[in-house]
Amino acid sequence: MITEELLEISATAQRVIDKEDKHGAHNYHPLPVVLARGEGVFVWDIEGKRYYDFLSAYSAVNQGHCHPKIIQALTSQAQKLTLTSRAFYNDVLGEFEEYATKYFGFDKLLPMNTGAEGVETAIKLCRKWAYEKKGLSAESAKIIVCEGNFHGRTTTIVSFSNDPDARNNFGPFTPGFQSIPYNDIDALREALKDPNVAGFLVEPIQGEAGVFVPDEGYLAAARALCTEHNVLFIADEVQTGIARTGKLLAVDHENVRPDILILGKALSGGVVPVSAVLADDEIMLCIKPGEHGSTFGGNPLSCKVAMAALEVVANEKLAENAERLGKIFREELRKMTRENRLVKLVRGKGLLNAIVINDSPESKTAWNICLKLASNGLLAKPTHGNIIRFAPPLVMTEEQLRECISIIADTLNTFAK
Ligand code: PMP
Repeated sequence: MITEELLEISATAQRVIDKEDKHGAHNYHPLPVVLARGEGVFVWDIEGKRYYDFLSAYSAVNQGHCHPKIIQALTSQAQKLTLTSRAFYNDVLGEFEEYATKYFGFDKLLPMNTGAEGVETAIKLCRKWAYEKKGLSAESAKIIVCEGNFHGRTTTIVSFSNDPDARNNFGPFTPGFQSIPYNDIDALREALKDPNVAGFLVEPIQGEAGVFVPDEGYLAAARALCTEHNVLFIADEVQTGIARTGKLLAVDHENVRPDILILGKALSGGVVPVSAVLADDEIMLCIKPGEHGSTFGGNPLSCKVAMAALEVVANEKLAENAERLGKIFREELRKMTRENRLVKLVRGKGLLNAIVINDSPESKTAWNICLKLASNGLLAKPTHGNIIRFAPPLVMTEEQLRECISIIADTLNTFAK
């Protein structure tokens, strides 16, 4: 069977796809590839065909698929204790909290599971702080967010999205948010004139929007403005954090220290859902027992996995590797913009990169390119119609990267030059 003449789908794969289609909710539109195994930078489909993974589960698998050290931590803890809830202490959570707070340089950590829960936690923490420390009057706190943001899918989070797909017919929405243009320091300066502003929630690079890298100096200037106005700088590093952009955190590129840091995805190397919010005592201790929590948050299995995942990032120098390979990757992709009129633009930092395809977002060109890339052994997914994100696991070698660059170049060359 041939899908759109670009990617062959076997009858077995088609049966798996049909099963999902029949019994599952239709809230995703996956590429028609059925994966069954992963190791390092590679995944294999049910036929045994190997692909380079250039999505890394939306940057959750920075350490590579099934990293042996992380899997070892998972399996050994899984045989001892997996979940107690926070009704009792477990013998791993404190160890993880100590490890992670030292690793990232904050007083305290609050563990959750998904990225969206991390963001929700940060919002609640910011509001609590605003009423109890900043002295805002009840119900008046405002959080500034940026147009084009992606922070997750909960009702509150989609309340401040400006993506129609994320919002349409999901109202009524949560009040208390103001959206300003991203990468516009004057707009932030203006918004901060409102004395009810409690926080500024920002992605240091907008990942889901299509890898928008702000101008150099934007984050540092935003940080300074927040300090001046006694407003919390909240960095959502769920996608950009944990070495993805060539530094441990994307804010490190501008030596910015957020007041609240949100982590998720690669915090577990993609093994189990682990997210966390980090802050200093002045902020974190605003939340008291019974005011926030999660049954699975802080469970010993996740804690062991997260410690192993962070250890791998440090031991294998993944930030340095992402920084070095990212430079090579963008340089080579930029050559393609000169040789192939289909590639309009290349942008990114470290190994979080994207190309903009020279066609309208409504066209199927980027989707078709991704089908052909899959057929040629490399998995990537279009976002917003004409943008293709390239985010391989950070354990990639230069040799592998160069092979991937030729796959991408050859694929693009089979489309109109
Ligand atoms: N924040 C950012 C910046 C993200 O990119 C994402 C997921 N793409 C989320 C939050 C939500 O994470 P999750 O899907 O784990 O809820």
